[in-house]
Amino acid sequence: MDKSYDFDTLAIRTGQERSQFNEHGEALYLTSSFVFDNAAQAAARFSGAEAGYVYGRFSNPTVTMMQDRLAALEVAEACIATASGMAAIMATTMALLKAGDHIVSSRGIFGATQQLFDNILGRFGVETTYVPTTDIEAYREAIRPNTRLIFAETPSNPLTEVVDIGALAAVARDKGVLLAIDNCFCTPALQRPLVLGADIVIHSATKYLDGQGRVIGGAVCGRKAEMDEVFKFLRTAGPSLSPFNAWVILKGLETLNLRMQAQSAHALELARRLEAHPGVARVFYPGLASHPQHELAMRQQKTGGAIVSFEVKGARTEAWRVIDACRMLSVTANLGDVKTTITHPATTTHGRISAEARAAAGISEGLIRVAVGLESVDDIYSDLVAGLA
Ligand SMILES: *Cc1c(COP(=O)(O)O)cnc(C)c1O
Repeated sequence: MDKSYDFDTLAIRTGQERSQFNEHGEALYLTSSFVFDNAAQAAARFSGAEAGYVYGRFSNPTVTMMQDRLAALEVAEACIATASGMAAIMATTMALLKAGDHIVSSRGIFGATQQLFDNILGRFGVETTYVPTTDIEAYREAIRPNTRLIFAETPSNPLTEVVDIGALAAVARDKGVLLAIDNCFCTPALQRPLVLGADIVIHSATKYLDGQGRVIGGAVCGRKAEMDEVFKFLRTAGPSLSPFNAWVILKGLETLNLRMQAQSAHALELARRLEAHPGVARVFYPGLASHPQHELAMRQQKTGGAIVSFEVKGARTEAWRVIDACRMLSVTANLGDVKTTITHPATTTHGRISAEARAAAGISEGLIRVAVGLESVDDIYSDLVAGLA
């Protein structure tokens, strides 16, 4: 596929490989293995001397189509699909790090990512230092001779803090370490970390890439050299994406930009209305002028994204009242769906960390996170403010 096509064209057309039947829609190959013409071909396929599909743990045409499409959207040399977003982070770190290595990570990361770094990689001799998400100098100062990776999420969950990817990439280059960005909240429709200088992009395809809350999936994008290592890990360790999930995500990518634009527009409108509501103490949304990194966000992202967090006046009782008064919004942990979801981070996604750590991270008892979907903004707003009165 000609890479000079625009994003919307690439999202719909890239990667498709037609079978002998010349189907118009992408084919779903539900098979665990592939048949060889003879013993010599089997040997050549296994050794890699001959290109071709071998076994579903590490090769499938539907998965390849999804990988090629996402790689084009992220402007990456290669993409490796994984069983989940967490499998993508695990595969990246296990493939590229070894015992004795060190990670510098933004503090505002997904809860399971922190558990992976501390409780799993920690047991294998990889240590992680956390720094304030937006503070570039803090990343630089935390780098040691054995640091191999800087890991950051931007915007962060749930406070939508934004880190300057270009500035962080300059630190990484200067210090000779890799920079990985979890691009879950923005997707390549709004932000392309590799173009801004990052080395690796991580995705939970479960979120906006599928976009309709149907499957669990993930992906890693980057240069061929690093992705070859991730592939070797995946081939051996096996956290690969199922072809069915790859097919769902492949179709999700076709409407990615449309959804991200529309959901962002809804989020901005909702953030503005919430900011004007007397029952709301503070709104966290990068698209609002009141956001501390608003200018950076508008330079780095196409929109403010579709996640809006806000603090009610009061604490847990008042926040739970807002959630419980919702008749339409889904009280669920997922985000990135066309259905709007609402959560109370302090008692759910961030409930396993200590109250002190939560307070230090700025996640108060009055905080609510809304992942804005495609329903009418008027209906979303009415639902949200019912319990704010
Ligand atoms: C959900 C999420 C993940 C993990 O993805 P799964 O598909 O649930 O494994 C990683 N990072 C961020 C920012 C997420 O929101």
